[in-house]
Amino acid sequence: MRMYEIIEDKRDGKVLSKEEIDFFIHGYTEGTIPDYQAAALLMAVFLKGMNEKETADLTHAMAKSGDVVDLSPISGIKVDKHSTGGVGDKTTLVLGPIVAACGVPVAKMSGRGLGHTGGTIDKLESIPGFHTGLKIEDFIRNVKEIGICVAGQTGNLAPADKKLYALRDVTATVNNISLIASSIMSKKIASGADSIVLDVKTGSGAFMKTLEDSIKLAAEMVKIGENIGRKTVAYVTEMDIPLGLGIGNSIEVIEAIETLKGKGPEDLQTVSYTLAAKMLYLAGKGDDSACMKMVKESIESGSALNKFKEMIVRQGGNPDIIEDYGLFGESKCIIEVKSENEGYVSRLNTEQIGKVSVILGAGRETKESKIDYTAGIELRKKNGDKANKGDVLAVLYTNNAEVISDATELLLSSYSFQSEPLQIKPLILAFVDSKGVEKY
Ligand code: URA
Repeated sequence: MRMYEIIEDKRDGKVLSKEEIDFFIHGYTEGTIPDYQAAALLMAVFLKGMNEKETADLTHAMAKSGDVVDLSPISGIKVDKHSTGGVGDKTTLVLGPIVAACGVPVAKMSGRGLGHTGGTIDKLESIPGFHTGLKIEDFIRNVKEIGICVAGQTGNLAPADKKLYALRDVTATVNNISLIASSIMSKKIASGADSIVLDVKTGSGAFMKTLEDSIKLAAEMVKIGENIGRKTVAYVTEMDIPLGLGIGNSIEVIEAIETLKGKGPEDLQTVSYTLAAKMLYLAGKGDDSACMKMVKESIESGSALNKFKEMIVRQGGNPDIIEDYGLFGESKCIIEVKSENEGYVSRLNTEQIGKVSVILGAGRETKESKIDYTAGIELRKKNGDKANKGDVLAVLYTNNAEVISDATELLLSSYSFQSEPLQIKPLILAFVDSKGVEKY
């Protein structure tokens, strides 16, 4: 078999066999297939698509490319959660401690930023001293002892996805249903959870821009999960507007801490609580309303915040950040971006806002880029808010003065205004499980 022919077949719109997909994944993981051929195949898949069987074969090949984690030493039902990626999406930092505080083990492997979207691992690494690169034994020990561990793709977990994820990030081949579904589900299969709650983002800040495509992606992932015996459900949630007000790394950790203190923005609270309650439900903690009650109690009693603190200590971070945000450090340049218009904010181009945060240093422009942890955006006006000329729309943080004018210009062009007040769309748009799709 030759990689050249596999690329040629997909370029011409042919269906790839399981053997061809296995050959590609094995060779790319081993390093016998170079980046340039993998990139060419990714682009061909992006342009010509893959059918359901090809997507399932790709998922299984990637899941088998490394170790499969055995979570059986941890007692109880292990429920995992994964987001398809968004702007300002810090839900894992909120719901992980909530779910663990309610007595359900959270053994969560998370990713880094991808394209214009942020990643949980980069956010956690903004906490001084925090380690995310754990050995599998330490990962499991943490979950057994304190009920939670959030780490990077530990050891040799789905190494094919790890390499392809980084390559897609810099070759404009991220937002394709088959590539996203196989990337997420290969990791979920390899990371061993019993049940999976997916958060499929939809809208201008998501990889899937339309509700229809997002539901298709959700259904494809639910089917892959259920076929291998993992209870899998998905919410489709709004990403036509950033989640919360902070975008970046330390900025988002601070907002997650505020939410764990019960003082976070309402949209972040709604999405985090909904997903957390469904995780508790899948772990057998009661019906939907009993689970939502437990979620709220974990915030009111402070047990979720304490769990986050315990996790920080266990993973080597400085827990004092919970009370003293100054310990994250501060950006050298802090710029207020003021409105040149008057009216109600009618739209935020959320992908563009994600790009502004990358320009400021909060994300990666190339595989080798270093993250500036304090860089990012604090939104002061979002959809539906009234702005007068000269009102601050957002505050930008960066350590690189050279990017300020580009970032400011792009941020301003992300805002649209209208003269009449407007109705804000609901946040939770659909639910997908093995029985079908429910639109809200
Ligand atoms: N998250 C992933 O893990 N993979 C993708 O392809 C997109 C989002």
